[in-house]
Amino acid sequence: MLYIGSHVSLKGKDMYLGSVLEALSYNANSFMVYTGAPQNTIRKSIEDLKIAEALKLIEENNILPSNIIVHAPYIVNLSTEDEEKRQFAISFLTNEVLRTAKMGSYNMVVHPGNALKLSLNEAIKNTAFVLNKIIENTKDVDVRICIETMAGKGSEIGKTFEEVKQIIDLIDNKDRIGVCFDTCHVNDSGYDLVNNYEEVITKFDQLIGLEQIKVIHLNDSKNVCGAKKDRHENLGMGNIGFDTLIKICYDERFKNIPKILETPYIDGVAPYKDEIAMIRSKIFKK
Ligand code: FE
Ligand code: FE
Ligand code: ZN
Repeated sequence: MLYIGSHVSLKGKDMYLGSVLEALSYNANSFMVYTGAPQNTIRKSIEDLKIAEALKLIEENNILPSNIIVHAPYIVNLSTEDEEKRQFAISFLTNEVLRTAKMGSYNMVVHPGNALKLSLNEAIKNTAFVLNKIIENTKDVDVRICIETMAGKGSEIGKTFEEVKQIIDLIDNKDRIGVCFDTCHVNDSGYDLVNNYEEVITKFDQLIGLEQIKVIHLNDSKNVCGAKKDRHENLGMGNIGFDTLIKICYDERFKNIPKILETPYIDGVAPYKDEIAMIRSKIFKK
């Protein structure tokens, strides 16, 4: 079964219920949502999210919990050396994991962090420390933290499979960690999915293990392989191209993994209904 969806918003008066309705309007059987605005850490109280109504609709439409993905805000830097910011990251993301569980999801995606002035090794150690604390603080919930593969823009860590592996190696409870494989980021960081697809996948498998992938972010890229830019493009309009993205979607090894579109809006309109239809039909329409 193909599990495909997009990121959807959590806003207006319908909140989480609105997110599910948005996903259904795209004919999606999977979706990803932020627990609030991704650029800030202001969060509504959990009672105001209309979770019960949303969960009812999720069940009625047979959306599996493994196909509901939550994304943590990206402004929290897990690699920070500032003690106050580190403590904030731990307490804030602890709460986000608890919210993720209440929203009926098993998987929360995080960006591993920015090294800034730190060495790569120090940054990786800091990130693992924060992740271990969050996992420890949320022992009773069944939520996995998925480290996203990054493009390598600025001082982003997690731009190579080796860096992702280094973080995972430092996690105490490996049952609570996974990976989110972002096709645009992987391309931008320098892995050639177009010409060396099998090599790239094999490399990931040997280093980390394909079974660690719990989410695929399915994006084309505005930039060439290795550009270290991170600018998403609509499917088939970028440097990865439709055929390679279809190959990933229908790769037997990723059969049960939800594929989430984070492609840009076109003239203010979400492209997801059309892109999902294109993936289902395997036919590219401009
Ligand atoms: Fe992300
Ligand atoms: Fe992504
Ligand atoms: Zn991105």
